[in-house]
Amino acid sequence: MEKRNVYLDNNATTRTDERVVEHMNHYHLNDYAVASSQFSHTPGIKAKDGIEKARQIIAEKISALNNEIVFTSGSAESNNLALKGIALANRAAKRNRIVVSKIEHFSVLDSAKRLGKEGYDIAFVDVDGEGFIDIDHLKNLVNDETLLVSIIHGNHEIGTVQDLHSISEIVHKKGAYFHTDATYSFLQIPVDVKKYGIDLMTVSSDKIHGPKGVGALYVSEDVIIEKITDGGFQEFNLRGGTENVSGIAGFGKACEIFSEEDVERIKYLRNDLYEQFKSGLKGVQLNGSSDFSRRIPNNLNLSFDYIEGESVVLHLDMRGISVITGSACFSRALQASHILLAMGFSHERAHGSIRFSPSKYTLKEDIDYTVHHVKEVVTKLRKLSPLVEQQ
Ligand SMILES: *Cc1c(COP(=O)(O)O)cnc(C)c1O
Repeated sequence: MEKRNVYLDNNATTRTDERVVEHMNHYHLNDYAVASSQFSHTPGIKAKDGIEKARQIIAEKISALNNEIVFTSGSAESNNLALKGIALANRAAKRNRIVVSKIEHFSVLDSAKRLGKEGYDIAFVDVDGEGFIDIDHLKNLVNDETLLVSIIHGNHEIGTVQDLHSISEIVHKKGAYFHTDATYSFLQIPVDVKKYGIDLMTVSSDKIHGPKGVGALYVSEDVIIEKITDGGFQEFNLRGGTENVSGIAGFGKACEIFSEEDVERIKYLRNDLYEQFKSGLKGVQLNGSSDFSRRIPNNLNLSFDYIEGESVVLHLDMRGISVITGSACFSRALQASHILLAMGFSHERAHGSIRFSPSKYTLKEDIDYTVHHVKEVVTKLRKLSPLVEQQ
């Protein structure tokens, strides 16, 4: 088989679409003024216009109002703003509890832990073996003292998609705010923030073929929140600092050209990959939701019995295939992913997990090439594995 380069790490980030780059270049080279100069000169008005067009596109995609979209430097910042901004603005409310799930991204988990050090009472919701929120546990944890609940929508590692609607009902019954990190599900799984009862929602550009370093936080008009980044009155006074005009415009463009047909094709490739592994290899375990209608279309997370994910990843890299094991943030530390451990997995199975994530640029040939090499690598490694002998 001729060597190919197959990038299957689109959960982490995606290639920027050419049309997005072209649109961004216009704001780099032509309408490059500072948007807050809109009251002084025409270039400022044009830059502001670029931002407002993007805001409108993103607002429409989630059924929000334009003034409910706050641009940030990405999902990590949006998550920080959601948790810390709510905590900062609502001291007087005397609600001291913040509830997050055990499978959040570090930007939510670490923000919550920091607020814990500041005196907030942080509670962590359990998940089941497929990564779904334990609804009874959530009901137990959310009480009259609860200020905010933050639950990830589509999990970035295992792809499991939570039922936001029923979660928001539980949260609102106790009068708390509901935030969801929808970075990874954004547009792949449509969300209507009003219908679902979402108060704050994190979205990002670089997982949908937009530029890196741009994101947004949807903040419902009814939410009391304060900025955590001082430096000016930008973004409805919720995020000080000069706006990343080209990045924001690129984010808008990426949303505009996002296509449902692409999602359907990606789903087909993901399913094909899974079917070929299942029929061609023994000891393949699916991690995350087994109901694929409750899984992010471009996510497949598998463990191969008896072998380390780390060695599979390195062997595949030599063959031109890019995948990851565990959580990207953890891979260097060689610790098992907190997400798989929260699902009750042994360290072995957690270490053996590999994430395959295709995009609209993935071809059927890429899938077949990947299957061929994974089979070869897994078979070879199993021959060397002392664990096989023990069975
Ligand atoms: C990628 C990702 C993030 C982090 O986004 P940054 O670009 O690092 O800000 C946060 N949450 C989820 C669910 C993600 O998939």
